[in-house]
Amino acid sequence: MICELCGTEVPHTKNVAIEGSVLSVCNDCARFGDEVAAPVVRRGSMPPVIAQRLEARKRRQTPRDVYADAGQEELAEDFPQRIRRAREDRGWKQADLGAKINEKVSVIAKLESGTISPNDALVRKIEHHLGIKLKERVQPVAMKKASPSGSLTLGDLIKIKDEDE
Ligand SMILES: [Zn+2]
Repeated sequence: MICELCGTEVPHTKNVAIEGSVLSVCNDCARFGDEVAAPVVRRGSMPPVIAQRLEARKRRQTPRDVYADAGQEELAEDFPQRIRRAREDRGWKQADLGAKINEKVSVIAKLESGTISPNDALVRKIEHHLGIKLKERVQPVAMKKASPSGSLTLGDLIKIKDEDE
């Protein structure tokens, strides 16, 4: 092999970067530059700034980010109707449900009229005894942002409801 700097014939050359270009040089000339592991191939590579932006955009769009907060559940708005419907389906009076979950009739009445909201413990008892769900998964904020129009279509809402069940 021939040193590209001094022209000497040598058994091995090193790739060194000298003033912006990579040359294959002999051991003596290697000290004039910084040794590089392999010849730099510029073809097909893109400026670091653009590569960084693409990488950042890819990160933003990963499903992991979109569903990061999907585990959050909130009390369904129609929880009073859900309780009443499930109770009536079983042929129970408000007192019957109260006895099963160890709550006063007045509590059941207030729940079914929406006057009060059940706490987590009560939600679990009602869900267990009536075999219903009172909580709904909250829509992740990231998904709302991703919606092009900025608002959900009726189709979206139906889809979300289906996935919940
Ligand atoms: Zn040389």
